[in-house]
Amino acid sequence: MGAVKLTFLGCGDAFGSGGRFQSCIFGKSGNANFLIDCGASSLIAIRQNSIIHDDIEAILVTNFHGDHFGGLPYFLVDAQLNKKRTRDLTIAGPPGLGRKLTEVMEGTFPRSSVVKMRFALNIEELQPGAGLSIGNLRVTAFPAAHPPQDPHIHLRIECGGKVIVYSGDTEWTEALERMCADADLFIAESYFFDKQIRYHLDYVTLSQKIRKIGADRVVVMHMSEEMLARTSKSIFECATDGMLIEI
Ligand SMILES: [Zn+2]
Repeated sequence: MGAVKLTFLGCGDAFGSGGRFQSCIFGKSGNANFLIDCGASSLIAIRQNSIIHDDIEAILVTNFHGDHFGGLPYFLVDAQLNKKRTRDLTIAGPPGLGRKLTEVMEGTFPRSSVVKMRFALNIEELQPGAGLSIGNLRVTAFPAAHPPQDPHIHLRIECGGKVIVYSGDTEWTEALERMCADADLFIAESYFFDKQIRYHLDYVTLSQKIRKIGADRVVVMHMSEEMLARTSKSIFECATDGMLIEI
């Protein structure tokens, strides 16, 4: 199997800490191309990295907050009007995705949700533990630590013979431990260094779990200013915008 390349188009938090773009990772292998999350600033990052629309066959989102989901209206309207996309697109995410996408489209560009697209748009709501095949990708979602009315998921992505686990925004969960057991790469939120808040991961917690993280490689992202000031202390790789890794 060939390598999988991942470009961290945006590895920042919701609030522009460090001048970074919001969550968006571009994955590419010999037979699959996808985005993980699509924050409000992601179309700018996509442009800066010269990624073309038709190279993205799927967008996998972990929650409906603007820094993970808010870029979809810009991406879709750009695909429809400017880039004249023709390739089918699948967007997969937590239960409720279809309704939330309509809401964010209408809130951003009124009537954009009722325009007939030039391309087929497939919406897939990921049920916990149930795998989904999208072309050559295999995607499985598990519930992250957030209230049920605000669903967040962890993603396990099998692609090109590799396994990528992405925490999304969450506290530590036992599901992450199981998911990471055979992972080639674990991409984890590290919002704060040692400040623990509900529904988010911090560096100290992650480092305490290191024996339970079976992944071969760990990259942290979604860092606040407080975490960014202390990345030199990190035993994990810290993402930067535009960083390319290969697994
Ligand atoms: Zn976030």
